[in-house]
This record gives sequence, structure tokens and C-alpha cells, in this order.
Amino acid sequence: MGTKAPETGVKKPTFTPKALIHQKYASKASYRIEEVQETLENGCPGLAIGQQSRILYRCFLDLPELSVVSDTFTRKKDAEQSAAQIAVEKLGIQSNLNSSTPEEAWNELVARMSGLFTDEFLSSSHPLVVHFGVALRRAGNLYGTIPMTVIAACDVKVNSLCKIIDPKAESDPLVVLSLISKAAKASESVCTLDGKFWIRKKEGYSPNVIELILNRSSSISECLQVEAVYIPCEMEEQVSTLSLLVSDTKYYMDEIAEKLNVNDSSQIIVSRTVGKASSDMKLYFPIPEACIDVNMEQLLNKRASYFSGQSIYGNAIFANIGYTRKSSELFCEDVSLCSYYRMLLGKLPDGAYKVSREAIFAAELPTSYTSRSNWKGPPPRDLLCVFCRQQRLSEPIFSVTNVDSYEISSELSGNCKEVQHANGGIGGIDNKDSDKSILLKCEVKIFSRRQETLAEFSFADTYRKESDAIQNSALKVLNWFDNYLKQLDMPIEKISSFGSSDNIKVYPQAFAQEFAMYLSVYGVKQNYFPGKCSSLGSFPRNLSIPKFENGMILFSIDGPDSGVFPSPGSLTCISYATSLVKEEINLKEVLESNDEFEFEVGTGAVISQIEACVTQLSINQAANFVIEAPSREIILAAAGESANRLSQLPLDNCFLEFSVKVLRVTEPLEDRMEKALFSPPLSKQRVEFAVRHINESQATTLVDFGCGSGSLLDSLLEHTTSLEKIVGVDISRKSLTRAAKVLHQKLSKTSLNQMKSAELYDGSITDFDSRLCGFDIGTCLEVIEHMEEDQAWLFGDIALSSFCPRILIVSTPNYEYNPILQRSSVPNKEEDSEDKSGPCKFRNNDHKFEWARAQFEHWANKLALRHDYSVEFSGVGGLGDVEPGFASQIAVFRRNILNLADEECASIENSRHPCELVWEWNGQPNL
Ligand code: SAH
Ligand code: MG
Repeated sequence: MGTKAPETGVKKPTFTPKALIHQKYASKASYRIEEVQETLENGCPGLAIGQQSRILYRCFLDLPELSVVSDTFTRKKDAEQSAAQIAVEKLGIQSNLNSSTPEEAWNELVARMSGLFTDEFLSSSHPLVVHFGVALRRAGNLYGTIPMTVIAACDVKVNSLCKIIDPKAESDPLVVLSLISKAAKASESVCTLDGKFWIRKKEGYSPNVIELILNRSSSISECLQVEAVYIPCEMEEQVSTLSLLVSDTKYYMDEIAEKLNVNDSSQIIVSRTVGKASSDMKLYFPIPEACIDVNMEQLLNKRASYFSGQSIYGNAIFANIGYTRKSSELFCEDVSLCSYYRMLLGKLPDGAYKVSREAIFAAELPTSYTSRSNWKGPPPRDLLCVFCRQQRLSEPIFSVTNVDSYEISSELSGNCKEVQHANGGIGGIDNKDSDKSILLKCEVKIFSRRQETLAEFSFADTYRKESDAIQNSALKVLNWFDNYLKQLDMPIEKISSFGSSDNIKVYPQAFAQEFAMYLSVYGVKQNYFPGKCSSLGSFPRNLSIPKFENGMILFSIDGPDSGVFPSPGSLTCISYATSLVKEEINLKEVLESNDEFEFEVGTGAVISQIEACVTQLSINQAANFVIEAPSREIILAAAGESANRLSQLPLDNCFLEFSVKVLRVTEPLEDRMEKALFSPPLSKQRVEFAVRHINESQATTLVDFGCGSGSLLDSLLEHTTSLEKIVGVDISRKSLTRAAKVLHQKLSKTSLNQMKSAELYDGSITDFDSRLCGFDIGTCLEVIEHMEEDQAWLFGDIALSSFCPRILIVSTPNYEYNPILQRSSVPNKEEDSEDKSGPCKFRNNDHKFEWARAQFEHWANKLALRHDYSVEFSGVGGLGDVEPGFASQIAVFRRNILNLADEECASIENSRHPCELVWEWNGQPNL
């Protein structure tokens, strides 16, 4: 039946609901109209016998955080307005208020009190009307009375008015209640029960209206049982579940009152909606007995208050129950313990990310945003907006500004001023190009709900695309908050400077106020956050298994090595299952599993143990490992159906067992291009280039700077060379582990070479280590572009002045070749088309720069001159003498003083050994 939009205010609203929605959401609001055939039957007095039908319209409105459906109307327009009206109410958008001053608001509130108790209001479809139905069935002196608290809970307008009268109403439901109580007393037509929070109309309603309401609030036929969550005030007591039973004869508010041990339903306060605006999930708690003169802080239910962003006192019940506009029947839905913990977890930036990826144990908020196609899960900007909404802050403001490229180049190149002059630009920016270097910076401001500035973030990094600037900055802000919220004991004065060299300004007072609740909740319970998995002290299994990083224990790897493995920058798809294990009680329960979970290796998108495990596997291999279990909250958030049962068990001394399998690996664009567009692949051509120089110079010793997973060293073993000793250095432990495995396998099999020893070191190639000195040949292939430019200079200086190899071969991408690579279409479904049309980007997300030929030559020439080397330029891929040169440019440095004594080179700091020897081989080939 078509209902008309409720009109209870004194004056007409200034904006239509649709206009309000448009103001807030613009094109993000989508309306959809559905036709409904309504059959008019006998029940309709004005119509002739027989059946007729007419077309009615119903409107579906989808907003980013809410979807609503209107009643049916004869006009589409009305259906749309009605849907918008419902959304406006649900979202609490301050709208059809005529008041702006507290005085006006007070008068309107008093008027509203009378307005609610009129025949006109009772004929509307307002959810409050059903409460009147309950009241009108009640016998005795409570006939016709409703709890004031349901007015606070159901009427958006009352709430909005209260906020104008007293801003504290925003966060304290007690303030709303006391204002309603005062307004009721001030209103002529209603009366309250002495000392109680019951309210009713002085006079009666018209019989027609009473009949209408009694008909409308049809009774519940059977007894409903609904699951709710009980959040005790006492922090030591655990959150648990309870069941609410409601029936024809039992008002749900009464049932809640009973469960909370209070006399009647007027003593129960209802919070605003928690979580999705489209639900009716609310907290119910008793009115504190001694409202005045008592230190209310003591009565505060900290967990529930933190959870809801409102002051909640005493023990609380979290339930999804209530009357809706759509139907007069009681709506209710179970709230499980698991969903409570998920919502709780979702209040933290990394928690929100974990929940959104449905991988609570596996996912982590990534520390870097490399590209849109590699980012899995909701984009950082959306995550930040959700975070702010969760904290009841205003939407964050992003301001993108253009930065003068000169200014930037001096900022970025740091102590390495030479770079600027090389080509007038910095890494990757070729000023010869017509797409002049537009560099964008993004600042982010965070405001409280009342528009006070809480923090301003201004990051040094610059981007070429606006969306990159925004997403990256949003991610940094998220990570900043995440870190901050995990170190709440940090003094507020310190937080501005904490975590980075970027310019972060925090307004301590306003900031501390907004996040005070965190302190009170997490301050008490240190253990909320999943700790870094330290040692597994009591882990009872076979300890001969090697221990990994972070106390992880990796069990046997299943399946043959396919040779294709997840390396940094690749997208890896895994399947995994995580089980909770508690050996004493024989518990092993799968809590989370995923058949396909994709992430970018090296960005911190998964817990470190999964990354460490996965980088040791190749496609189709699987492995198991265990880590210490995280906190109870996180376990229950992931536990789904089992949460209720598990919550009964003591969850200490548990561990998590992961079983992981690598399904697919998508290599970084650079690797795919090098393979697809060059034959043999560029990496192979680089190896052959190195082999030529090794054999030409009869080198017997080689050090590979930045050896990664050992692809060069490995390939060298397949060639006949003069080498007897090979050494690799890298800062990636994971890559080194992989290199060790590959070399070990090959060296113990092969008999084709005269290799005598092989070593792998974990350390930075910008750090002097005497064990890397005096080699015949040094290689540094596709490494320098992974370091900041000043570090690339530092490496050059150290390599040529201290390591002093006779020959040093350095390769790096030629930026000028990129357009050719980009034009050749490598099938690449994930890369969005927008990226292709834009300016050239780097070949690999991890590249800090890519140099044009002139920039690379400038670097190499300068270093050669400084350290008495000669240098020659060459390359692989394409032709050197045809524009734009080789795809991969190579500099070959040769030491001018050829018989420099080894001691002379290493004498500076003879026994400086900052690198860690992680693997060595000096056996003879197994024949
Ligand atoms: N040379 C290898 C790997 C290239 S990828 C190949 O051609 O396949 C770049 C490598 O440089 C990565 O393995 C990275 O860990 C390493 N790297 C980056 N900065 C480094 C540093 N300061 N010291 C040592 N290795 C570094
Ligand atoms: Mg590279």
C-alpha cells in the first residue's frame, strides 16, 4: 500500500531528501526503480467487486555504505524521495531541521515531543509507531506509555536537535535522554511517569488511529530466539553470547531489560547504530542508577564505548533487533561473537584491511602501494575514509599540488647533487621528452567530526599521476595510524616526529581527545594486538626442523621444484588454510582458509612468515609452518561458526598451523617484458655478456653485488668458465635462501667445472666488507636502480675505491628504451589502460630511478675518473648505435693500476666484516 512520506515537523523541510543525498554522495548514489503489480482485492472499500490491478513503484537506493528500499508508490518520484528519506534518517544526515541555534532547537524539540504523540504521527510508517502498538496493548498504568529511550533510538530528528542543543549528545546517549525528559516535561500534551523514563500522551488518540495501530503492529506468531553479544563492564570478564527470546506477549525491550537485570524497559538506553548503517545493530545498557554526582568514568563500559564510539555505561548487550519502517513485524538477526570481533578488528587500519580481504590471519596492511593493478583489496584511499568514518571523524581531505621539478630534484637527490646536472632531471625523468616533468605531491588532513584539525600529513614523495599521489599518501597515513594505535603509550608530543622523516603535524589536544578511548581500552589490555611471533618456547614438536625468521618453523616442502618462484615484485596466488592447534586438548580446528589468495611479494601484504615461506616455494609446491597464536580477539574474529564454542575454551598456549601452496606467480612487468620481447631473454644476454668478459680476462674469482636469488651465479655454473671462486652479496635474506638452495643443488651435482668455493653474504653492497676485496671481476646487474640515487653513488665509490675488482660490470635499464617496451604489447590483463597512455613509468615497481644513457654515463665517467678506472659503455637488447640505444645499458670498468696488491686494497680496515656469511660451499663435486 502506498504510504505518504512522514510529515511531522511544524514547517516544511528546506531540502528534499533526494537533494540531501545528492549533496553528500553525488553520483555515488544510485537509484533503481522497480515496477510492482498491485492487486486490489475486496479489502478496498472504494472499489467495485472483482480484481483490478495497478502499477506501483518501489525504489532501491544504493549508497557506498548503505542500501535501502522504499515502500511502493504510484509515482516514481515519490518512491525515490521515500528511499532517500529512509537513507537520510538511517545516516543521521542533519536535514529537515528549521533550527540552527540551541534555543530554536530546544523549542523544536519540545514541539517534536508533542508531534510524536499525535494521530497524524501515529498514522505514519515511522518505526516508533510500532512501539505505540505495544504500548496500547499494555494494561494498567503503563497503558499507552513508551520508554523515552526508544524515542532517542528511533527518531533521527530528536537526535539531531539534541546535538544542536548540546554537542555532547553526539557521543553520550545520557545527554539525549535527559534532554528528551526535560522536553517532555516542557511539553503541554505529554506526561511522564514520576521518576521513570516512561512517556505518554495526556489525552487519548482517536479510535480510528488506535485501531489502525493495533492492526498494524501485528503480533509475532511464534517465539523468536535471537543471538546477541554480551559485553560486561568489567574488563576482566569475557565477552560472550546470549539469546534473547521474544514473542507475542513479550516486548523485546522487556526481554533485554530482564537480561540486564533491570526493572523495566524504560531503564534501558539504546545506542545509535553500530557498524553498517543499514543494520539495526545497537547496544543496550541500563541507565546508570546514580546519574548525577557519581564519577561517571567509573561506570563507563570501556570496551563497548570504544566499540560504538559513544559512552556506554554498565553491562551492555549488542543486538540486531528492532522495528523497521518497511514492516511492522519485529526485525531481528543473530549477532555472532565472530561478527562482534570482526567489527572490533575493523576499527584498526590493518584490521579493516584484513577483514576486507577475508584473510584475518594472513593479510597485513601493505607498507607500499606499487600500482593499482598489484594492489589487492580496497584501495588505500577508501580504507582511510572507512577508518575515519569508523572513528567518527570527518572525511579526510586530500590536496594534490604541483611541485616545481627543480625543487624536487634537490630534495630527492639529497647529498648527491651531481645528479641534477646530468640531464637536468632526476631518475626516470627525461627532460628531452615532451611530457615535461609534472610532479605531484599530496597532503592529507584529518579532521574531527566538529572540523577541528587533528593531524596534517605532508609527504616528500612525488608522483606523476594524481591517483598515485592520493593512494600512496592515504596508505602512508593509514600506516602511520596503525603504528600509532599499536604504540599508544607513546607520549603525544612524540607522535608528530614518529615513524618517518615526512612532515607530520599533530594537534595534540584535539588528537588525544579523539583517541582517548583507545588508551583506556588498549592501555588495560596490552595483549590485544597480535604480537610478533617470537619464540615458540613450549612448542612440543620435533625441533630438529630449522627455525626461520620470527620464530617460524617450516616443515617439509612438498612437490618438485618447478623453478618458477615468487620473487619480490611478483604477484603470487596461493591457497592456504590456518588451523588453531592446542595439543593438550587435542584441538585442531581450521579457522581460515582461502582457495585463491593473491598478493604482491615484498610489499608487506601478508604476515612475514607467509612471505618467508612462499618465497622458498615454487609453483605447485606446498609447505606447513606454525607460529604462536595471536590474541583471543583475533582468533575469534576469524573463527566464524566455531567462535562461540572456542570462546568457552582457554585459548592460551595455542599455536597456528598454516599450510600454504603456491598456485600461480605473475612476474613483474620487467621480467615478463625481458622474456617476451628479447630472444634470448635479456637476463640470459646479460649472463652471456658476463661470461665473455670472465673468459676474456681469465678471471678466477667473481663477486656478484646484489646477487638476488642467484640467477647469475647459477647460470655461470652452466657455462664453461675460468672461475674457481664465486661469491654473492645481497640484502634480501629470502632471495639468498633461494640462491643457496639452487647453488647447493647444482654444485653437488655438477662435475663440469673447476669450482672450488662459493659463498653467500647477507649485507648491503654500500657497506665495506674486507672479504669482498680484490676479486678479478665484480658484477652488479640490474641492482643500482633498486637503490636511492645517493646510494648508487656510494656503491660506485666503495666498489672502485675499496673492493677494487680488476673489472666491474654494472648494468641498469635504459630509460629511453621504455617507450619501445611499452608500445610492444605484452599481454598484461591487470595493467589498466590508463597506465599505458600516461607517461612512461618504470619497468619495475621497486625501481627508485631509471636513467637515460647520459645520466648513466655521467655516473660511470665521474666514478671512473675519481678512482682511476677506465670505463666502456655497452649493453644488451637492441642495438647500441641506433636510437634509443640498448634496452639494458652496461658499463665495464677496468682498473688502471693492474697489479694492485690485494693487501693494499684491503688494508684500510682489514677485518671489517659487516656482512653475514649465510651459506658456503667448498666441497668437491660429487662424482
Ligand atoms: N642481480 C640480480 C638481482 C637483481 S634485483 C639479477 O640480475 O637477477 C636487485 C637486487 O638488488 C635485489 O635482490 C635486492 O635485494 C638487491 N639490493 C638492493 N639494494 C641492495 C643493497 N644496498 N645491497 C645489496 N643488495 C641490494
Ligand atoms: Mg631492476
